[in-house]
Amino acid sequence: MAILRKKIVAGNWKMNRTAADARKLVNEVFLGVKKFDAVDIVLCPPFTALSAVSEMLADVPNVFLGAQNVHQAASGAYTGEISVEMLRELHCRYVIIGHSERRQYFHESDELVCQKVKAALAGNLRPIVCVGETLEERESGSWRDVLFRQITVGLQGIPESDLADMVIAYEPVWAIGTGRTATPEQAQETHAYVRGVVAQHISAEVARKLRIQYGGSVKPENAAEILHQPDIDGALVGGASLDGRAFSSIVLSAGVEAPAAA
Ligand code: PEP
Repeated sequence: MAILRKKIVAGNWKMNRTAADARKLVNEVFLGVKKFDAVDIVLCPPFTALSAVSEMLADVPNVFLGAQNVHQAASGAYTGEISVEMLRELHCRYVIIGHSERRQYFHESDELVCQKVKAALAGNLRPIVCVGETLEERESGSWRDVLFRQITVGLQGIPESDLADMVIAYEPVWAIGTGRTATPEQAQETHAYVRGVVAQHISAEVARKLRIQYGGSVKPENAAEILHQPDIDGALVGGASLDGRAFSSIVLSAGVEAPAAA
């Protein structure tokens, strides 16, 4: 039986926007998609703007707050880190875990990703777990092994029932911030592979319901083609999410049905 997965589009603002600038950006997004409930929208500002954005989202049921990272421990002597409870207090619903920039610049391993996913789920935060291969891994053909490892180690030991609300973001590292996107066919093939790994190693039921976002230079011009692939359930958007009109346009593309095949 076919399952309808509601599309989910998240904006990863990275280390951009003060709290004051964040308010302006949220207002721009509201102009475009405040009442557009065909798609789940997630805004992931930096930690310092979470509170300001949270206040603005309080009465907006289709736009959720997300964080860009979280620490795996509940509390303690971890200078500069933020816990799940702190994010929940600000009404965060989602948290990005294992973004390639965290893996590359902060040496986050698959094992650490797994600990963070467990902590997030235990605290009722929905993880957006990022996976993706480098250009070298794509070109050498080892991308399947890389994704297999990231998924199976990153989600190891997590009970099936806890994974129902998880989102996976497939983000080829070579497409992030580079202006280069995977072709829709390449992205679809990879998403189908990711879903297959989840079906085999976690459960067919989780795989069927799992929302898999594509990320990597998604823009208004390429969004529709990518988002209409059968295994692509949304987008994780970096650069274009800093422009309210561009981000809204991507959200609207996600909410439009794919044209029927001729
Ligand atoms: C990202 O950082 O998750 C991302 C996909 O960035 P961009 O859209 O800028 O490539």
